[in-house]
Amino acid sequence: MDPNQKEHGFDDLVKLATHLPDYQIILWGIEGRQTVASELEHFNPEGSKFIGLFYQNKHYEFVSHTVGPKASRFCFKCSKFADANHWKKCDARCKRCGTFDCAPGNAKIHCDDCNINFKSKKCFDAHLIPTTSNALPYCQKYFYCKKCSLIDRTDKYRGDPHVCGAKSFCHTCLEKIGVGHECSFKVPTEEEKNKKREAQKFSKYIVYDVETVTVESGEYAGHVERGPKHQPNLICCQMFCTECYGGDCTTCKKPWDYSDEDPEERLRIENDEEKEVEDNNDDDEYYDFNAIFE
Ligand SMILES: [Zn+2]
Ligand SMILES: [Zn+2]
Ligand SMILES: [Zn+2]
Ligand SMILES: [Zn+2]
Ligand SMILES: [Zn+2]
Ligand SMILES: [Zn+2]
Repeated sequence: MDPNQKEHGFDDLVKLATHLPDYQIILWGIEGRQTVASELEHFNPEGSKFIGLFYQNKHYEFVSHTVGPKASRFCFKCSKFADANHWKKCDARCKRCGTFDCAPGNAKIHCDDCNINFKSKKCFDAHLIPTTSNALPYCQKYFYCKKCSLIDRTDKYRGDPHVCGAKSFCHTCLEKIGVGHECSFKVPTEEEKNKKREAQKFSKYIVYDVETVTVESGEYAGHVERGPKHQPNLICCQMFCTECYGGDCTTCKKPWDYSDEDPEERLRIENDEEKEVEDNNDDDEYYDFNAIFE
């Protein structure tokens, strides 16, 4: 590739990909009227390293997609795309000592503390040392139970005692369970029932619904993840309590709705208010939320 060349196009990218066969190169871009970027090209999918590129307005930008709850990261250790929890299950990490450069051998070294056997001296030594400054060493995280012949997390690491023979966790019973587990919701005690009844004796409900229109969806050029703005044009709200159930009530507010009948006038007011906020920025507006629910 000519380093003096000012602009590089797609042909150069293809050349780059052939020169770097060990790099997966993914090109994302926004096509037509899409609001979200999609994958346009994926070069060298078997590569062990990664370069992410984003193509927009005839420019290639370097990206790493790690923002948001479903961020995708590239693990340079096992060369796979993964989420934020990946460090727990990365294939490149040794399950016995927790290091990434472990060299398993043919040895059989037994640890009397955790009862686990290790395949090399290196692995054995590493399992006694914490992988990060505030972590427990693997020797204190995992142990082998002779009774049920399973490796499990220690009580200290999990915060709960080991249940012999338990292989999975039941989300109904909220406990570790073994084979043939009979699942059942626990029958609440009389005391628990009374507590719930007492708490539900008097309650207030607020029900609301918001209808919106998307403004400027055609010419939207903002942040792709956010998409065009949804502007509410109808908001309905009703409050009731366990005494009135929507009838006449002294404590509940009357049903309330708001509709955007004059959007231009609203925009004018909003713009004025924005200006005002800019003018006296240190004057924090005070909202009394308690007054709303009194
Ligand atoms: Zn990994
Ligand atoms: Zn190891
Ligand atoms: Zn050990
Ligand atoms: Zn056990
Ligand atoms: Zn269960
Ligand atoms: Zn009421």
